[in-house]
Amino acid sequence: MAEVETKVSSLFINGEWQDSDSGKTEAVVNPANLETIIEVAYGGKQETERAIEAAKAAFVEWSEMSPRKRSRILYKAHQLIYDHLDRLAEILTMEQGKPFKEARGEVKSAANFLLWYAEEANRIYGEWMPSSQTQKRILVVPQPVGVVGAITPWNFPSSMITRKIGPALAAGCTVVLKPAPETPLSAIELVKLFEQAGLPKGVLNLVTGDAEEIGQALLQNKDVRLITFTGSTEVGKYLMRESAQHVKKLSLELGGHAPVIVFEDADLDVAAKLTLASKYRNAGQTCICANRVYVHESVQEKFSQKLLEHIQSLKVGEGLDPNTDIGPLINEQAVSKVESHLNDAVKQGAEVVYGGAKWEGELNGYFFSPTIVKNVTKAMAVMNEETFGPLLPLQTFQDEAEVIAEANDTDYGLAAYIFSENLDRSLRVMEKLEYGIVGVNDVFPATAEAPFGGVKQSGVGKEGGHHGIHEFVEQKYVSIGMH
Ligand code: ADP
Repeated sequence: MAEVETKVSSLFINGEWQDSDSGKTEAVVNPANLETIIEVAYGGKQETERAIEAAKAAFVEWSEMSPRKRSRILYKAHQLIYDHLDRLAEILTMEQGKPFKEARGEVKSAANFLLWYAEEANRIYGEWMPSSQTQKRILVVPQPVGVVGAITPWNFPSSMITRKIGPALAAGCTVVLKPAPETPLSAIELVKLFEQAGLPKGVLNLVTGDAEEIGQALLQNKDVRLITFTGSTEVGKYLMRESAQHVKKLSLELGGHAPVIVFEDADLDVAAKLTLASKYRNAGQTCICANRVYVHESVQEKFSQKLLEHIQSLKVGEGLDPNTDIGPLINEQAVSKVESHLNDAVKQGAEVVYGGAKWEGELNGYFFSPTIVKNVTKAMAVMNEETFGPLLPLQTFQDEAEVIAEANDTDYGLAAYIFSENLDRSLRVMEKLEYGIVGVNDVFPATAEAPFGGVKQSGVGKEGGHHGIHEFVEQKYVSIGMH
């Protein structure tokens, strides 16, 4: 019988798979059954420094390579992801918990970022502009930023990686990648496919292990010119502060607190279905999940009924079960946070209309029942803090100006959603919402071809679209005198 692997050499530095210097490892746990899937290397400062060195050395050749050649490698990696779609999705579900069909969707979207940036690699244009002085010429030359430190979260273990390294590699940058400790396996698989696609050694390095130490090593090294991060606002602020030391460039995708506004002229069936789809996707663990719902008081009853009709069919369970719609949360703290938001709301007078407790099933994982509460008020934590779980609060409103003010009354500014069949109103409200992304009768805005990113404390910079590559490009201005 083949031996079952219990440990994987998860550090990929200068083209070689390695263990940590100390030999320490860390368990990757399946949140649906709390079993250890495998142990990965627990790296830190030294390993990160070596990875940065490798990335710096590889930068020379990679940045000078023709974009066409870089593009081909990205395209090959995109194809390889599709070739291994089901296996990658299964690994993703095991380490992260999301239903297999969602994991498959994520892996496809991860591949699509590589396709998109394989194409964009060839379109990083410079400029030649008229000078105010006839004896001068002005040239703007795009050049890759340099070594990039990429720190990624556990909620999208695959697509958040390619959304960063796709444009970075396309632009000619080299990368040190630090995935979330909860979900390193998807990262390992992706790096292996890049290796197979022919990426030269040192261009992409992977360091798993001590987040703080790896983070510090990236921050303290002058050669890391840009930090690209997706995660909590708290860690984002820390990275921003610490980046000041060497004035690093930053691209930050941070937390959100997405409002959903259901106007009286909305198609309530569409609004109810999509609100639930947004809220319960990844068990509520996306930064653009519906976090609070404002429904016009004249349609409140009808809208609540439709939510209740549709929510009944959502099945909680293990992600690998094909009938599952809602998987487990990532860990114990995630469950406690949902519980605390729920208890706080109920204590302050909210009424539970569906669910309302940890999921009572046979499975020994971090499950929580899909829950809806109504009669919520602004004072409740759920209306101000990111819940990151399957709790949906409903509040009513009376007029447009009031609901816009409520929606904007937050430090976050990532995604907001409007449901209305009135185009004038949709455009008017969209313009007034202080958010980086607005969905009009749509709750799935993230896609390779569009610029994803927040305003206010939800982040800086864009990922996706032609915009996403500009984060990794410096514009060198050349002033030419003619004598
Ligand atoms: P969450 O609370 O959703 O886990 P975090 O912001 O803590 O979000 O995590 C997002 C990513 O940031 C993960 O890869 C995590 O390991 C990493 N991270 C957390 N703390 C630090 C830190 N001090 N320095 C660098 N990276 C960190």
